[in-house]
Amino acid sequence: MKTNAAVIHAVGEEWKVQELDLDEPGDNEVRIKVMASGLCHSDDHFVTGDLAVDLPMVGGHEGAGIVEAVGSKVTKVQVGDHVATLFIPACGQCEYCARGMQYICNNGAGMETGMGMDGNPHFHDADGRAVGGVTRLGTFSNYLVCHEMQTVKLPEDIPFELACLASCGVATGFGAAVNGGVKPGDVVLVLGLGGVGANAVQGAKHAGADHVIVIEPVEAKHDQAKVFGATEAYASIPDAQSRIDHLTNGQGVDVAIITVGRVDGDIIGDAFRAVGKAGTCVLVSVGQAAEGISISPQDFTNFAKHFQGVMYGNCNPTADIPKLLKMYKDGTLKLDELVTRRYSLDQINEAVADMHAGRNIRGVVVHEH
Ligand SMILES: [Zn+2]
Ligand SMILES: [Zn+2]
Repeated sequence: MKTNAAVIHAVGEEWKVQELDLDEPGDNEVRIKVMASGLCHSDDHFVTGDLAVDLPMVGGHEGAGIVEAVGSKVTKVQVGDHVATLFIPACGQCEYCARGMQYICNNGAGMETGMGMDGNPHFHDADGRAVGGVTRLGTFSNYLVCHEMQTVKLPEDIPFELACLASCGVATGFGAAVNGGVKPGDVVLVLGLGGVGANAVQGAKHAGADHVIVIEPVEAKHDQAKVFGATEAYASIPDAQSRIDHLTNGQGVDVAIITVGRVDGDIIGDAFRAVGKAGTCVLVSVGQAAEGISISPQDFTNFAKHFQGVMYGNCNPTADIPKLLKMYKDGTLKLDELVTRRYSLDQINEAVADMHAGRNIRGVVVHEH
């Protein structure tokens, strides 16, 4: 079948919306009619080359839609189910899934190829050339084919444009806080208020933090930070330092969560130094693979600090995405407030420009069918 998709052809280029051919699903695969896709910063890391992937590739991994067709061996979902896409498969069988760590499922290996789990492409251009899909998905396409283990069934009474956010940004940010060690009474620093940072703030509040201090250079977002539960917001760590000293008796924060759009070693060093004794620096953001981290070995050891990497919020998406959406229905998790603007697929480059300019908490592509 034919589908319209936003494709990146080379590092540094803009997204190009074009018609592609989409293969039929294999035995363990499903075809999803994609209804909405969030604009997660990770897709931009494929454009900048921070995350090296095989190009050309259809963008998008934060998606929600309707199952339209299933392969003969699919058991996890049925035609008609509303689903979210998982950018890391959750096989449930590998060592890490068995240990409750779906976020590092062994089947995540090889996703930089953009090909299906069997190594074959799902998309082809007009010349028959293979086109990959980001994280084996490609939610910037009206339709996609993926392995059933990259799906999770959703309740049907949540709008797709909100449900899609749970498949990456909400799970990643919320999980970074609640699985990153935030405890009742903590003073928490969140660096960067985008779609992930806003949810780290929500997670920190849920985990019982007394103070959630947001560091965000775009001052227009400071009021929004408070909507999600931040107690205060500053443009930089130096601007916040006297307040941090006051709240922590000069010791430093309990947990610092790094959710900036693009991280470098200096940002990590600054966040690590802001953490107090026995505190934890949680790294969510993506930067260059070869980036060095400037932290003092003595600061690390003498103050018994922790440094925690977080993938997919260290969540188990099969369980956690439905739970997060239940929290939304119960009124304890904000999703509507995350969506700053909706775009058509043709407006994809405008949406990316708005993300870069800091105009959005989250932009969402709403597919037209
Ligand atoms: Zn993402
Ligand atoms: Zn697994």
